[in-house]
Amino acid sequence: MGDLLQGRRGLVMGVANDHSIAWGIAKAVAGQGAELAFSYQGEAFGKRVQPLAASVGSDFLLDVDVTDDASLDRAFAAIGDRWGRLDFVIHAIAFSNRNELTGRFMNTSRANFKHSLEISCYSLIEVARRAHPLMANGGSLITLTYGGSNRVTPFYNVMGVAKAALESAVRYLANDLGPDGIRVNAISPGPMKTLAGAAIGGARKTFRHTEANAPLRRNATLEAIGGTAVWLLSDWGACTTGEIVLVDGGYHVLGMPQSENL
Ligand code: NAD
Repeated sequence: MGDLLQGRRGLVMGVANDHSIAWGIAKAVAGQGAELAFSYQGEAFGKRVQPLAASVGSDFLLDVDVTDDASLDRAFAAIGDRWGRLDFVIHAIAFSNRNELTGRFMNTSRANFKHSLEISCYSLIEVARRAHPLMANGGSLITLTYGGSNRVTPFYNVMGVAKAALESAVRYLANDLGPDGIRVNAISPGPMKTLAGAAIGGARKTFRHTEANAPLRRNATLEAIGGTAVWLLSDWGACTTGEIVLVDGGYHVLGMPQSENL
């Protein structure tokens, strides 16, 4: 508990349940005094998100499907009406057809390629454009990415391409919005046991492999990711933008597995 984010108001997008990375971030930033709104995708998720939101003192819930412009417009209008401003957004949203998160990458279909990139990358741009007018005093956007963006990870397939595009969008948005005092960063955790994580073929093996080989011999936790978000959103992160912050136990520095695992 602390007050690093006292008086800040933020939208958290992407809580599906209490294992969600967005939830880990929500708990950490609420613990530092932030006031939160939550968006959820459809009624079924809404029922799960409502009690979680209530547990951090929020009754501000917005039904948003990022492929539906009208739902995005409604959500940001509601934030403008209620708060008149917005200090930060957590964008923790990704999707790909799980049938294509296994097998050979070359079999990626055109339809799923478009759908995956739209939800997992383009939605950040849609969100940034709508958040911008509410951030007249500056602000901060955080999205979530994964190291499969620039290194091949078994079965991550089209999501790797989507994350590469997302990371590039972070840099372009950071440059676009920097003069307006809005920072844009991504957090890149190692594998996490979440709904989205479980959709990737061989997820358990990837989780075990990272834990066994990362310099810290551990995977990320919701607390570690939440702490990184607090830093990025607070004044301590005031000069950091366009950055991809790795929270993966150091796994990304490796050239090959540890000797004990060869
Ligand atoms: P999760 O399943 O808990 O969250 C994914 C969220 O995306 C869900 O809340 C879902 O409702 C939302 N979503 C999907 N399509 C949507 C749409 N059309 N409109 C609105 N919302 C939509 O899983 P998570 O692992 O917490 O994923 C959050 C982010 O973290 C994703 O960007 C994911 O790629 C990223 N990430 C996950 C891992 C991992 O191993 N789990 C690792 C690194 C990065």
